[in-house]
Amino acid sequence: MNFYILTLFPEMVMNGLNTSIIGRAMEAGFLHIEAVNIRDYSTNKHYKVDDYPYGGGAGMLMQAQPVYDAWKSVVERTGKKPRCIYVTPQGKTFSQKDARSLAEEEDIILLCGHYEGIDERVLEEIVTDYMSIGDYVLTGGELPAMVMVDAIARMVPGVLGNESSGSAESFEGSLLEYPQYSRPEEWNGKKVPSILLSGHHKNIEAWRRQQSILLTRERRPDLLARAELTPSEQEWLAEYEKSLDFSGEL
Ligand code: SAM
Repeated sequence: MNFYILTLFPEMVMNGLNTSIIGRAMEAGFLHIEAVNIRDYSTNKHYKVDDYPYGGGAGMLMQAQPVYDAWKSVVERTGKKPRCIYVTPQGKTFSQKDARSLAEEEDIILLCGHYEGIDERVLEEIVTDYMSIGDYVLTGGELPAMVMVDAIARMVPGVLGNESSGSAESFEGSLLEYPQYSRPEEWNGKKVPSILLSGHHKNIEAWRRQQSILLTRERRPDLLARAELTPSEQEWLAEYEKSLDFSGEL
């Protein structure tokens, strides 16, 4: 899969993505990640890329022309018009579901804003999707783009060595992942749940599923409301809630 990140800070993006699992996947050829420096496309003799907003207001705005030409360079080079995602706090909140579905694209362009954002006219010309990583404002789109590339890339076959590890994680089926434990069997007076040492795979699987449900109930009840529980799981959860009523937790 190919990612083209349009940015004013290519080294920030590439330094962040060149390491660990994503870096190794690039080396192995599963991913091609390229930062395109928008400043290289400025026609200004001082390579200026920003100017004051019309109508006044605080801060500077990235100008349309360098952004458009940086985008055009990718389109001309690849011979395609890939989906172009502007990372912006004004976008739809990016989710694991989006990561999974975007991983099916062959090419993606991510556009990073800076300062007060980007001239609206170029956004109208090139952007296909507006996506945010959360309801807060960052100084630039580089961190959001890195977050999204990481989440999308790990859904690309081959990127995670263990093919199954992407599918049993938090948010799959609207549940959080179960708690996990490693050596030693006892640490700081706390023992690993004995079922995990039993070697009984079916029971372990059932325990993990219940733990996922309980953890989601506790930490993300909004997710649990959307989870697909079997009728027997629903019954079990109702019993559990009832037992808490009796013990006075609720
Ligand atoms: N003036 C803009 C507004 O109020 O919507 C905010 C601009 S922000 C300071 C600069 C750039 O950072 C944005 O153009 C966008 O690319 C990026 N950015 C900031 N917060 C973000 C978020 N939560 N998700 C995605 N991108 C974000």
